[in-house]
Amino acid sequence: MYPVLNKLPNKSDSKPLPIVVIGNGPSGICLSYLLSGYIPYIKRGSAHPHPILQRKLEETPEVPIIDQDLEYLSEGLEGRSQSPVALLFDTLLRPDTDFGGTAESVLTWWHETNRAIPHLVLGRNPPGGAWHLIEGSMITLSQGEWMGLPDLHLKDWMRNKRRGLRNNRATAEDIAQYYQHYVAKKGLQKNFICGTIVTSVRKVSPDVNSSYEQQEHEGNSDSFWDFPEKEDDQIANGNLFQVDGFIKNTNGCQQPFSVYAENVVLATGTYDSPTKLGVNGEDLPFVHHKLSALEEAVKNKRVGMTSDPVLIVGAGLTAADAILFAHHCNIPVIHAFRRRVNDPGLIFNQLPKMMYPEYHKVHQMMKEQSVTCPGPYECYISLPEHHVLSFTEDKKCIFQDKSGHQKVFNISMAFVLIGSNPNLSFLPNNGIDLAIDNEQPVNSKRNPINVDPFTYECVQEKGLYAVGPLAGDNFVRFVQGGALAVASSLLKKANKNPP
Ligand SMILES: Cc1cc2nc3c(=O)[nH]c(=O)nc-3n(C[C@H](O)[C@H](O)[C@H](O)COP(=O)(O)OP(=O)(O)OC[C@H]3O[C@@H](n4cnc5c(N)ncnc54)[C@H](O)[C@@H]3O)c2cc1C
Repeated sequence: MYPVLNKLPNKSDSKPLPIVVIGNGPSGICLSYLLSGYIPYIKRGSAHPHPILQRKLEETPEVPIIDQDLEYLSEGLEGRSQSPVALLFDTLLRPDTDFGGTAESVLTWWHETNRAIPHLVLGRNPPGGAWHLIEGSMITLSQGEWMGLPDLHLKDWMRNKRRGLRNNRATAEDIAQYYQHYVAKKGLQKNFICGTIVTSVRKVSPDVNSSYEQQEHEGNSDSFWDFPEKEDDQIANGNLFQVDGFIKNTNGCQQPFSVYAENVVLATGTYDSPTKLGVNGEDLPFVHHKLSALEEAVKNKRVGMTSDPVLIVGAGLTAADAILFAHHCNIPVIHAFRRRVNDPGLIFNQLPKMMYPEYHKVHQMMKEQSVTCPGPYECYISLPEHHVLSFTEDKKCIFQDKSGHQKVFNISMAFVLIGSNPNLSFLPNNGIDLAIDNEQPVNSKRNPINVDPFTYECVQEKGLYAVGPLAGDNFVRFVQGGALAVASSLLKKANKNPP
C-alpha cells in the first residue's frame, strides 16, 4: 500500500511542484526512474553494433546520454518506430534485438541523487497502468524483453519468481506484477500516489491565482518539497498548472485534492474509453465493450454452451482473445468485422505464424468458417465485411454486408472490441487543441498529441508534455524514449545539468 495524503501538498499551503506526471503505466514509471536521478552512461568498453552510433558515442563517453544532444545521436537510426528518440533509447537498451540478438545494453546506470527532481506520479490503478486492466492470462504480443524497463531484466525477475516465458512471451499478469516490483525495487514508491483520478488540468491565470500568491508568501516551511522559491513572475506569467482530482481511499471514500505544478506530463495512455460503434441499442445491458465482461459472464454462468451465441465485433487482438476464450469454454460465437479476411491491414496478416500460433488459429477460423461457407470449427461463424446496424431489446443484432443485404441473428450477449480512445476530459476541449490535427479528437494512431520530437513538450502548450501512446508511441519498448526526452528537457529546465 502506498502512503497517500501526506505526499500531496495542498495548493494553499505549499509551493508548486516542479513536475506532476498523470498516469502510472510504463511511461510514467520509466520517467519517474529518470527523474529520480538514475542517470544513463555508456558502459566503458562496450561497442554498439551500429557503427555510426558507436562513433558518436565515443565522442563524449563521459557525458551521460540524458545530457547529450538526442537529435544528433538519433539521426539516421531506423526501426519500427517513427520517433528518433524512441529508436535511440531502444537501441541503447537492446542493441541488436531486431536482428534476433540478445546483446546486453550498452548503458550503465548511476544513481546521482543530487540530480533528482521532485515529482509526483498520479494514477488510477497500482503502478503498471493499463496492465492492471488487461485480462491477466492474456499473453503479450511483444517478446518478454521488449516489455522490460531500464536496468531490470524482465527475464531475471521471472526467473526469480520461478515463472517461465511462454514462446518468449509473458502474461499480462506477470507484466503488471513486474512493473509494481520495478517501482518498489528502484525505490520510486515515494513518488507514486495510486488510486488518484485527475479531473482537471488548467493553466493558472494571474487573477485566479492572486489568493494563492498571497498564501505562498505567508509561507509554510514544512513543505514536503525542497526546491528554490519561485519568482512572483512565474505565477504572474501564468507558467503554472493547477491539477485537480480526487483520491479513492481504501474504504471507497473520495477525497478531493488540488496542486500546482510547473510542468505536467500526460502519460494517461489510451485504454480508458472503449471505442463505440455508435449504433442504436448499443447501450442495452447485454452489449459490452470490455473483454473482462465476457470472462465475468462465463464465471457467473450468464452464458454457456447452450446459450444463444455471443457476438464478438472487431478484428483486432482483443477480439481474437475473446474468441479464443469463448472457444475454450465451448460458447458459440458469431464474429463480425468490417474488413476482408485477406486485408493486409488486418493485424493477423502482419504477425509471423510461428510466433503467434493462437492468433493464426483465429485467423484461420475467420477465413474458413464464414456464414456463407461452413467449415470444420464448431460453435463459430464469421461475418467478414459486415457491420452492425443495431441491437434490439429482444437480443437480436441486425447486420449489413458490403452489398447492403441485411441479416438478423439472435444473440445472448454482445462484445464490441474495436479499440479504445484516450480520455482527456480533464483537459480543456478534451485535449483536441493539443493534437496534430487540432480539429479532431486525439487518437494514438491517427492523431496523436503534437509534441517536439526531442523533448516531447507539447507544441501548443509550454510546460505540458505527452508520452506513450498519446504521443504516438504504441509499444512499451518505444514509450521509454519519450520518457528519456522529457527527463532530458526537464533536467535542462531545472538547471540540473552538470557544468
Ligand atoms: C490488450 C492490449 C495488449 C497490449 N499488448 C502489448 C504488447 O504486447 N506489447 C507492447 O509493447 N504493448 C502492448 N500494448 C500497449 C501497451 O499497453 C501500451 O503501450 C502501454 O501500456 C502504454 O503505457 P503508458 O504508461 O503510456 O499508458 P498506460 O499503460 O495506459 O497507463 C496509463 C495509466 O493512466 C491512468 N489514467 C488515465 N487517465 C487518468 C486520470 N485522469 N487520472 C489518473 N490516472 C489516469 C490509466 O488508468 C492508466 O492506468 C497492449 C495494449 C492493450 C490494450
